[in-house]
Amino acid sequence: ADRIVIKVGTSTLIHQNSKVRLSVIDKLAHVLSTLKKDGKDVVLVSSGAIGAGMGVLHLGKRPVKISQQQAVSSIGQAELIQIYNEALHKYNMCAAQMLITKDVIDYPESHTNVMNSFQELLAMDNTIPIVNENDAVTVSEMDHLTKFGDNDQLSAIVTNLIDADLLIMLSDIDGFYNANPLKNPNARLISQIDHITPNIITAAGGHGTKFGTGGMTTKLKAAERILKHHQQMVLANGKDPEIIFNILSGDPIGTLFT
Ligand code: ADP
Repeated sequence: ADRIVIKVGTSTLIHQNSKVRLSVIDKLAHVLSTLKKDGKDVVLVSSGAIGAGMGVLHLGKRPVKISQQQAVSSIGQAELIQIYNEALHKYNMCAAQMLITKDVIDYPESHTNVMNSFQELLAMDNTIPIVNENDAVTVSEMDHLTKFGDNDQLSAIVTNLIDADLLIMLSDIDGFYNANPLKNPNARLISQIDHITPNIITAAGGHGTKFGTGGMTTKLKAAERILKHHQQMVLANGKDPEIIFNILSGDPIGTLFT
């Protein structure tokens, strides 16, 4: 794969106590920089803004009010990008922050503009675009109108937009199981999925962790979008981001949607 989108989930980036996992970000920066230096086009879609903001503000739980979540997200986004940038600088790379909304697929003008930005950024040697949904301007109550809903689907949309070969989705779980492993100790990992069946949707039921918002349901929606566009997605565990190297060298890791 020469053009890769990597999505990291909140559960991978943020401790339960809302502290940013600096070692994960350091390793991510190393992997992304190495791929970029190898001539690959890489885009990172990073969640974790609300979690990081909760850490900055010492909040024990996620605020309920949407406007408060938006405020916390703005604070956390600044913190996260700063951490990414510091990590990337060690490898002579810099972050390009791209906060986008669903407008980019709904409005031709927005679409053109975001495509132009991606094109310029991907042509640069020392830059890693880091994408997140622009929480300050999207409004959750109007979900279907303005929000992607989550970064899982956002990452699939970005993968479609820039015509990437592969979306690597890193979460806190080794892949897609035939049942939620947290609830079912006999759950088995499914190594390849080429078609999202009703049984698979049932296996994804329910939400995930304290911070992660989508659970497997939104990951399956992302996978559906990827398959529809004849692209590929790998869902794998992000606790050690070096796993990206193994995935790219073709090792059977996690769940391949193809
Ligand atoms: P992220 O923050 O990485 O986006 P989430 O916490 O939203 O991740 O979703 C991952 C969680 O989804 C897993 O930790 C697991 O508890 C849950 N889950 C539910 N069903 C499944 C399944 N069939 N296979 C794997 N994980 C599942």
